[in-house]
Amino acid sequence: MIYYGKQSISEDDIQEVVKVLRSDFLTQGPTIERFEKRVAEYCGAKYAVAVSNGTAALHIACLAAGLGKGDVLWTSPITFVASANCARYCGADVDFVDIDANTYNMSVEVLEEKLRSAKRRPQMVVPVHLAGQSCDMKRIHELAQEYGFMVMEDACHAMGADYLGKKVGCCEFSDMAVFSFHPVKIVTTGEGGMVLTNNEGLYQRLLLFRSHGITRNPDLMTHEADGPWYYQQLELGFNYRMTDIQAALGYSQMKRVDEFVARRRELAARYESLLADLPVRTPYVLEGAEPSWHIYVVRVDFSKVKKSRQQIFKEMRERGITLNLHYIPVHTQPYYKKQGYCVEEYPAALEYYKEAVTLPLYYGLTDEEQEMIVKRLLEVLK
Ligand SMILES: *Cc1c(COP(=O)(O)O)cnc(C)c1O
Repeated sequence: MIYYGKQSISEDDIQEVVKVLRSDFLTQGPTIERFEKRVAEYCGAKYAVAVSNGTAALHIACLAAGLGKGDVLWTSPITFVASANCARYCGADVDFVDIDANTYNMSVEVLEEKLRSAKRRPQMVVPVHLAGQSCDMKRIHELAQEYGFMVMEDACHAMGADYLGKKVGCCEFSDMAVFSFHPVKIVTTGEGGMVLTNNEGLYQRLLLFRSHGITRNPDLMTHEADGPWYYQQLELGFNYRMTDIQAALGYSQMKRVDEFVARRRELAARYESLLADLPVRTPYVLEGAEPSWHIYVVRVDFSKVKKSRQQIFKEMRERGITLNLHYIPVHTQPYYKKQGYCVEEYPAALEYYKEAVTLPLYYGLTDEEQEMIVKRLLEVLK
C-alpha cells in the first residue's frame, strides 16, 4: 500500500540515535542545542527552541506573544486544526481568513479587506504555508505593520522551502515560524517541533514556556539566587521538552534536508507533466515561492468525472494507493461550528474542499511507483 507520506531513515540516522542512547543524557543534554543551532543556521534565523511536537510549538509561540483572553488569532480555514487550537489553549478566540483560489493559502486580499472592516482586529495572524508553498509574506508583513498584529508562520509543511531567495523560517517577514517533525513532514524526529525567531525577548519567553515557566538565568530572577540549587518559576509553563534521542535523529536528518526537498521538487515537476491529460488541476505556484512539497494536492474536475470522490478514494485503495485530503475546512469542524462561524464567509475554502485530493509524494517514492499512481488514477477517473 502506498500512503501520501512516509519518512526516510538512513543507517546514519540510526547510528546518531544509538550514540545518544549510549551517552549520559537522554534528555536535557547537549544534542538539543546542536539540533536547534543546525535548524536556525539552515533557515537563517537567530534563535530556535525545540519542543515535543508542532502543536506544542504553536502553543508556546502564542504564549510567548502574550496571547490571552480577549485576544483574537486569525488563520486559514485550510489547515490542520492545531493552527487554530493554539489560540484556544491560551483562552483567545479564533477567526478565519478565506484562501486564495489559486495558491490555497490565506488570501492577502481577503485579509486586507477583513482588517479594514472587522469589528475585532487580530493580535496575531497565522499564515500557513500549505504544501510548503510560502504565503505572500511580504504583503502580510506590510499589513502587520499597518494594523499592528504579530505574525506567526505555521511552517510545518515548509522545511527547506524558499521564498524571495531565502529559506522559510528566516522570520524576515514574521515574529516567529513554527515547524513540525512528525514522520510525514519533510524532516522527522518521530514527534517534535520547533519555534524560530529573531527576537531575543520572544526567545527567552519560549524557553520559559517550554519548561514549566522555570528559569535558572539570574538576569531573569526577581532577586539574587539563594544558592547553586536555586531556580525560579516566573510563568505557568509546561513540560514540552524534546528528548536528546529525538534531537539526534533531527540533527542527522538535517544533513539530508536539501536532498529531501530536491527529490520532492523533482516528483512535483514529474506529476505536473504526467497528469497533463487527466481532468485534474495541478498546483499553482506564487511568484517568488519555491515550495518544499510536503504534500501534492490536485483538484479534480468532477464535472468531467462521473464518480464521487468517495468512489475514487475507494477504487484507488483497491489498487493499493491511499489518497488523502488536506484539509477539511477548520471552521466546519463541530468544535468551531459551535462557536458560530458563518460558513458562507469562506467560499474559496469550501470550493477547494469539494475538489481537493492529495496524491502520494515523499522522498522515497520511486519514478515507477509515481507512474503507476498516475496510471491507476487515469483508470479510475475514466
Ligand atoms: C503537522 C502540522 C501541525 C502539528 O504538528 P504536530 O507535530 O503533529 O503537532 C500543525 N500545523 C500544520 C499545518 C501541520 O501540518
